[in-house]
Amino acid sequence: MAVTEKAKKRLEYDVVIVGSGPAGAAAARTLVECGWRVAILEKKKLPRYKICSGLIVDRSQNMIEERFGSLPESVFCRPKLLKGARMCPADDTMIEVPAEGSGILNVWRSEFDHWLVQQSGADILDEHEMIDFEGTGDKVDIRVRRTKEAPFLIEASYLIGADGAGSHVRRLLDPDFVKQIRYSIPTQLYCIGTINLEREYYYGFLDPSFSAFYAWLNFKDDYLVYGVAARKGDRIEPYLKKFTEYLEENFQLKIEKVVRKTGCMGSDMGIKGNFILGHDRVLLVGEAAGFMNAFGEGISSALATGHIAAEAILQAKTLKESAISLYRALAEPEQKMTTESWEMARAVAGRGF
Ligand SMILES: Cc1cc2nc3c(=O)[nH]c(=O)nc-3n(C[C@H](O)[C@H](O)[C@H](O)COP(=O)(O)OP(=O)(O)OC[C@H]3O[C@@H](n4cnc5c(N)ncnc54)[C@H](O)[C@@H]3O)c2cc1C
Repeated sequence: MAVTEKAKKRLEYDVVIVGSGPAGAAAARTLVECGWRVAILEKKKLPRYKICSGLIVDRSQNMIEERFGSLPESVFCRPKLLKGARMCPADDTMIEVPAEGSGILNVWRSEFDHWLVQQSGADILDEHEMIDFEGTGDKVDIRVRRTKEAPFLIEASYLIGADGAGSHVRRLLDPDFVKQIRYSIPTQLYCIGTINLEREYYYGFLDPSFSAFYAWLNFKDDYLVYGVAARKGDRIEPYLKKFTEYLEENFQLKIEKVVRKTGCMGSDMGIKGNFILGHDRVLLVGEAAGFMNAFGEGISSALATGHIAAEAILQAKTLKESAISLYRALAEPEQKMTTESWEMARAVAGRGF
């Protein structure tokens, strides 16, 4: 964690946020609104691709409307509104879970996340990767590298790790905590093809032989999107083969072309209720902190915890208390919600994950 390299240049901000997903955008929005100087570091070029079903549930919709305003048409894909989810336990039944509110919105994450982060009002440094950081009393020195350029330092009063499931901030902050995490690799295919399922639903298939987690399917514009997960180190192909054959036999899946196949890192933190909110002047939010609700819904918690962490930082200044203690107290209901959602998921699936 030592920041050893001499800086070529040095920037100063009140808060530096690592990650331009919904958690980072929400934290930035709340801080900027109160006049704080905020930088968001994003290692990829924006707008960036993010593997996701891209479904925005009622709770997320309300938070976005309240804090960011109305989503523009450019973020949506067809069908724009889903009626709900259909969960299929291993016994071949289908449980219908109607959407709350007016329906589930269907977005492309690249456009959605980019719009949110632009609305935040923070300075956005894309293609800037956080390498490491060091706490020095009431400051944090953050070492950053822009593609192919020499690293430089940013000094800030707080660092927020909003860098997702494989969080590098978390790894640097607490390597012992990270050793207990079990990772999985969700893999998703974007296909041109047909299937005998209604486009206005999201489908979850809970037979454990399809996936180490569960298998899913939904529709985005002209793509039929489906995926499975394997534990890190295990092969994904046997799961993909079995699930694809099941869809062919039971729902007449016909694939003309696989346009894209991507994977990412997933953690078991939310499933186990194993959260880490940070230490001292470094706060973790969204998936970096372990917030991921049942059946992979994580955007609502990312938006909520980003906002709560920012609130804790703002209150810490007024109340002269530590931001991390305030954040721990404010985030308790969110932790409870995530834990309870997984209890519900275990009841529906009739098994653990
Ligand atoms: C297959 C799949 C489907 C999903 N479907 C849904 C869904 O339909 N609805 C839903 O609500 N949730 C869904 N989720 C969960 C959702 O994608 C996440 O919970 C959500 O994106 C978490 O937001 P975040 O802001 O915490 O992190 P992320 O959105 O993961 O953003 C983290 C950002 O940090 C950046 N970053 C990482 N390291 C660094 C670094 N060192 N320096 C600079 N930048 C860095 C990354 O590039 C990334 O842009 C799905 C997840 C998966 C895997």
